[in-house]
Amino acid sequence: MNVSDISLPVAVLGAGPVGLAAAAHLVERGFTPLIFEASDDVAGNLASYRHVRLFSPWRYNIDKAALKLLAKAGWASPAADELPTAGEIIDRYLRPLAELPELAGHLKLGHRVTQVSRLGFDKVTTRGREQAPFLLRAQTGDGEREYFARAVIDATGTWSHPNPLGANGIPAIGEADYAARTVYGMPDVLGAERHRYAGRRVLVVGSGHSAAGTLLALAELADEVPGTSMVWAVRGATVEKTFGGDSADGLPARGALGARLKALLASGALEIHTRFRIHALEIDGDSLRLRVTGEETGGAHPVIQGVDQIVTATGARPDLALTRELRVRHDPWLESTDALAPLIDPNEHSCGTVRPHGHRELAHPEPGYYAVGAKSYGRAPNFLMATGYEQVRSVVAALAGDLAQADDVQLELPETGVCSTRQAYGAEAAPASCCGGPAPAGSAACCVQDAQAKVEGKSGCGCGEPVPAPMPKEKSCCA
Ligand SMILES: Cc1cc2nc3c(=O)[nH]c(=O)nc-3n(C[C@H](O)[C@H](O)[C@H](O)COP(=O)(O)OP(=O)(O)OC[C@H]3O[C@@H](n4cnc5c(N)ncnc54)[C@H](O)[C@@H]3O)c2cc1C
Repeated sequence: MNVSDISLPVAVLGAGPVGLAAAAHLVERGFTPLIFEASDDVAGNLASYRHVRLFSPWRYNIDKAALKLLAKAGWASPAADELPTAGEIIDRYLRPLAELPELAGHLKLGHRVTQVSRLGFDKVTTRGREQAPFLLRAQTGDGEREYFARAVIDATGTWSHPNPLGANGIPAIGEADYAARTVYGMPDVLGAERHRYAGRRVLVVGSGHSAAGTLLALAELADEVPGTSMVWAVRGATVEKTFGGDSADGLPARGALGARLKALLASGALEIHTRFRIHALEIDGDSLRLRVTGEETGGAHPVIQGVDQIVTATGARPDLALTRELRVRHDPWLESTDALAPLIDPNEHSCGTVRPHGHRELAHPEPGYYAVGAKSYGRAPNFLMATGYEQVRSVVAALAGDLAQADDVQLELPETGVCSTRQAYGAEAAPASCCGGPAPAGSAACCVQDAQAKVEGKSGCGCGEPVPAPMPKEKSCCA
């Protein structure tokens, strides 16, 4: 068996939006996909937040190759400007796509891939490895199974590996002991999990869109059920970043989320603790008490007391163990695909856009292996499905040897309206706009001119020209 054996499939790990888009592109190019999904239905990660209304309208959420396959089968496309919930993405788009005859026979639900290697080769052995097929081991309802593939597109996302509550990137002391009182992600506060939060004092930890959405849902619950209250803890000194770009955001629903949260805070209904870097949690009577370390606060020991339930929304990280036996290269701190890191590092910028990129930036030293979708971003936030769709179009074109198409990467993303540079997590007050004004639509991620203008104290430049070509080993695109 050899990778050039055309009877071998291309393995797609994960049947989320990007994995299924990859499968559609593979079909379009005449490959046989073999799609592995850990859950018993497609899009296991989106299913965990079915109730959440997304901030990108349908126009950004449907892949072009998937659309072609669906249209051929008579599928009626949803209204382009409508905002779907995560559940609607599954029910109206991803499941119909997965059920098409072109994909259905190649989809293995209930198959969690646990290891990827190359047949006959461990990581160290070089000679001949490029010719060896990939070997995938999966945990299934019938025990462990092995499969072979000529290439691997890893679209396993990050959502199933949430970051801990502990501020140091490792679990807080006591975090495991009180796991029954903690939910990671975005629980359905107003629906299925209402009983858990109604009438309780709930701590939400994190400063991203997920934390914002959960706080707003809890505020609604508090209006309906007396005794419900919310506490918000963030590591940073300010929460300006969470408020986002408001009307300057290219996705109005994303901008509105921040604006509503700002209003909630201004109303006094939300207790907030900034610079609260959680070190430990402990039981105090019937409730939990959370502490930070004294070293970080000059000897003071701030606490949050009386907490009944915790929602941890501190982001997620990729599962790197999956590819332990492959020759992969990640950014040392973002754990993203290495060449992508300068474009998406949240220490540097927060535009919400990324320069168009494709198979070249997504390649690893292991030929034929690509991490795509949310996983390609590692721990960096602001990934959008539209980015993943262009990634897989390029990767599949490269697998087909069509380098002209593979290199012709195009990406127009809606910006966050908070196009700042050097916006380190936890840094002092971050500028809330791009040099004092929203970035023009369609510009690339933060740019040299923008950073320079800020240094010189000028305003109003916006993000002008895109940064020229990438810089695989440099860390910053913002000079
Ligand atoms: C709350 C929330 C709201 C968001 N809103 C938007 C939005 O409005 N617009 C937007 O464009 N983006 C949004 N995103 C970001 C992003 O687009 C989504 O996270 C998107 O689902 C990423 O797609 P993906 O296919 O890369 O990964 P995922 O959707 O995470 O899919 C990964 C799939 O792989 C499966 N899997 C995981 N491990 C394995 C394994 N070992 N073996 C087999 N299968 C495995 C999972 O079950 C899952 O089905 C949002 C994200 C979150 C968390």
